[in-house]
Amino acid sequence: MFCPKCGSPLIKKITSLLWQCALCKHQWEFSSSLPQDANPWQTLSQKVIYDNPWIHVEEHSVIHPDGNQGIYGVVHYKHYAIGILPVDDEGFTYLVGQYRYPLKRYSWEIPEGGGKVGESPLLHAKRELKEETGLVAEEWQPWLSMHLSNSVSDEWGIVFLARGLKQEHPQPEGSERLRLWRLPIEKAIEMVLCHQITDSLSVAALLKWAYLQSRGLL
Ligand SMILES: [Zn+2]
Repeated sequence: MFCPKCGSPLIKKITSLLWQCALCKHQWEFSSSLPQDANPWQTLSQKVIYDNPWIHVEEHSVIHPDGNQGIYGVVHYKHYAIGILPVDDEGFTYLVGQYRYPLKRYSWEIPEGGGKVGESPLLHAKRELKEETGLVAEEWQPWLSMHLSNSVSDEWGIVFLARGLKQEHPQPEGSERLRLWRLPIEKAIEMVLCHQITDSLSVAALLKWAYLQSRGLL
């Protein structure tokens, strides 16, 4: 469990519901253990349908929780989706524009990239931010953990907040043709609210900023 305000680990205090942040000392009240049921699915067999360096697709023969038999297509991701919300001292953030091949449309997003499962997401986040924007950040904070499409895939999304920014030179990868846009973060939040930004990591990262700001927690 992490502090919603500063991203540091929480330490439990006083009661079973009251937590205190190890770093900023803010206190939060919530339960760490929500009610859970045992796995109601049965897997009868599974076979590999497709595999490439990024995804692995399986078809499972299953018995559903209601007792009926059927198939389940599962997409296993070999990389995390990593997002970085950079915010500079003047309250500006940085969006990256690129054409998203599966969607067949152009998309404005926070800087993002992939990191191999099993390797440090933070190291990949630092590399991606530098490659895509040329920015180097002094302060890094865990911002969000997300499951991006949990009905068919196990893809993890991990977002960091990056502050204390210094501009160096972008170094985009060969397959990327990117535009970079520095804008007030409030403007980017409005782009989420009017559906101009639809990328899930970007939507969630910007709305968390808006929430903390509205509560006076930034
Ligand atoms: Zn904290």
